[in-house]
Amino acid sequence: MALISCPKCGKRVSDKADSCLHCGAVLVDDPEKLQRLGRIERIKRSSQLMTRSFLALILFIGGLAYSGFYADKGESTDKWISQIVAGIGFVWYLILRVQIIQFKREGKS
Ligand SMILES: [Zn+2]
Repeated sequence: MALISCPKCGKRVSDKADSCLHCGAVLVDDPEKLQRLGRIERIKRSSQLMTRSFLALILFIGGLAYSGFYADKGESTDKWISQIVAGIGFVWYLILRVQIIQFKREGKS
């Protein structure tokens, strides 16, 4: 096993590695292998986006539910915090939706 330097970040990586451990650059020049790696990457990325948008929705709904159902009886700071959490969840969800749309567009081209 020899060490080569990554063409992208210049750090030392194994010549057996498919991608750079440091920056993720693909080091394979075999087109078939590249294509397969690309497909794996896309699947990984799509499931990552799905998991994140699910989490963002939970934050949003959880924050709203807490603020609506429980915080009326509790401290006003609770309500304030849960509304911020819901806000973060909502914005995060919107950002993820945009990323998902871009991701799908990339897939078509
Ligand atoms: Zn690198």
